[in-house]
Amino acid sequence: MSKEMPVLFVGHGSPTNAAEDNEFSRTWKRVGKSLPTPEAILCISAHWETTGTRITAMDRPETLYDFHGFPQELYEMTYPAPGAPKLAREIKQAIPDPVIHLDAGWGLDHGTWSVLVHMFPDADIPTVQVSLDFDQSPAFHHELGRKLKYLREQGVLMIGSGNMVHNLRIMKWEDIAFDWAQEIDEKLKKAIVDGNHEAMVDYESFDENMRLAVPTNEHYLPMLVALGSREPSEEIEFFCDRVTLGSVSMRSFRFG
Ligand code: ZN
Repeated sequence: MSKEMPVLFVGHGSPTNAAEDNEFSRTWKRVGKSLPTPEAILCISAHWETTGTRITAMDRPETLYDFHGFPQELYEMTYPAPGAPKLAREIKQAIPDPVIHLDAGWGLDHGTWSVLVHMFPDADIPTVQVSLDFDQSPAFHHELGRKLKYLREQGVLMIGSGNMVHNLRIMKWEDIAFDWAQEIDEKLKKAIVDGNHEAMVDYESFDENMRLAVPTNEHYLPMLVALGSREPSEEIEFFCDRVTLGSVSMRSFRFG
């Protein structure tokens, strides 16, 4: 492969997007069709936080139902994509620091499969997940993206899956946008377009409303990993770029 694979960040929102035909899932389908067919998919999901960095290394990752109290149909969905244990071992070899532990206990959580079920509905692309490290900083995760960047030349599609504005404590089950959430979403958009990754890595100083937008950073960090693998010259294309549920930005992007 001579051309580098694109990289995505996807705002995944509610698990119900997995089963629904809505504006977000329809856009994910369209984006999936527009991508070159990857050799493999590497997903960094908000929903896998570990001590240390881990990579799924099983032949057949299970579909994980890591959510509670949602409609039964979600628990009946499966995403039977194969794993890529050889790729996982190669990544461990290629990146000595941080040590990446091969994992046999996780699978594909809803951060990954609720999106892939629309983007790659055939579930035939080998898929691995890389975890977020509880104990590490935003800068560490941005740097992890830079270290994973070489995979783009090998036809691996990297996807960060989270939400850049995500506050479930004060969300509303309505299609509305709180003013502050809208503002932060716009400011992050500008920082992304400007390539101002530093300001986003130092997000606690980014804006006073960031404590509302990013009360905990697990949905934010997958975006930093994705951006870490970006060349400064690469232009960003946004999709699903709006706030819903009051305090959840679905803003997603692609580059490359
Ligand atoms: Zn989530």
